[in-house]
Amino acid sequence: MARGSKIWLNGKILSAEEAKISLFTHALHYGTGAFEGIRAYSQKKGGGAVFRLREHMARLEDSVKIMGFELAFTVDQLVQAAIETCKANSFNECYIRPLAFIGDGPLGVFPGANPTVEVAIMVWEWGSYLGDKGINEGAKLKISTYLRPHVNSAMTKGKITAGYITGVIAKREAIQQGYDEALMLDPEGYLTEGTGENLFMVKDGVVKTTQLTSILNGITRNTAMQLLRKKGLTVVETRFTRDELYTADEAFLTGTAAEVTPISSVDNRKIGHGDQAGKPGPVSMSLQQDYAKLVRGELPEYPAEWLTPIR
Ligand code: PMP
Repeated sequence: MARGSKIWLNGKILSAEEAKISLFTHALHYGTGAFEGIRAYSQKKGGGAVFRLREHMARLEDSVKIMGFELAFTVDQLVQAAIETCKANSFNECYIRPLAFIGDGPLGVFPGANPTVEVAIMVWEWGSYLGDKGINEGAKLKISTYLRPHVNSAMTKGKITAGYITGVIAKREAIQQGYDEALMLDPEGYLTEGTGENLFMVKDGVVKTTQLTSILNGITRNTAMQLLRKKGLTVVETRFTRDELYTADEAFLTGTAAEVTPISSVDNRKIGHGDQAGKPGPVSMSLQQDYAKLVRGELPEYPAEWLTPIR
């Protein structure tokens, strides 16, 4: 994981050594931060481009709004800032991490009437989130003993730092028990998502993804739905249960970091049937290939605005 040595902080490109913040930063104490995970890819025609950058920065703005604060930068300024950060680090293909957080100020839970919202953008080179084995052979999942919070508890539509504690605990529990990733249920017992990915299953030719209740409205989820519908598949956003998932024909995860990762098993039940059990299925694999082409500018039928060139 090579980290970019240049960081964008509140409008300026600084070296990583210069980009320092105070220990009195409110977000460090109470998780009052919002972030994004974005990927830039080398393009078939040369150079690099950032995939759905505007949508990611718009979601960052929404996350900050959900927390009840306001950014000092517009979405357009943040789009430009991400491109500048990639350029300053000479990266065409990288992971981009914008982070907006309540900075140094009053250290009670109440951060003051108009707290300063700082914004940083960091970049690094990052391979497959669930490993090359996950991408190629599928990931082993466990239904977590930890629940995704109720819709009126943590605000899960916001990509808010504090909310990730459940994911951190669930992911560690899964890894310590030999799995690759955790899936979380909602308080009523329905499936929601992974700790950093949305969830899809395929049964009898119909693709299901969990509905937008206590999940993050994933940009890859949205992209995947469009790619699948273009292939003529029916995609529904609905509730489903862990036993439905155990008996799916195929299942997969989507996310900026994880891209399209097939699921090989859930709670040690192999997904799929017969010879295909435990192996990535045809819908998952063709979606994975389409996604890889799309992000590299090889599917011209999709909106040109989805790829912001790094230049
Ligand atoms: N759910 C959670 C909890 C996530 O952290 C992520 C990663 N941002 C996703 C889903 C997938 O979202 P996206 O496709 O926008 O990266």
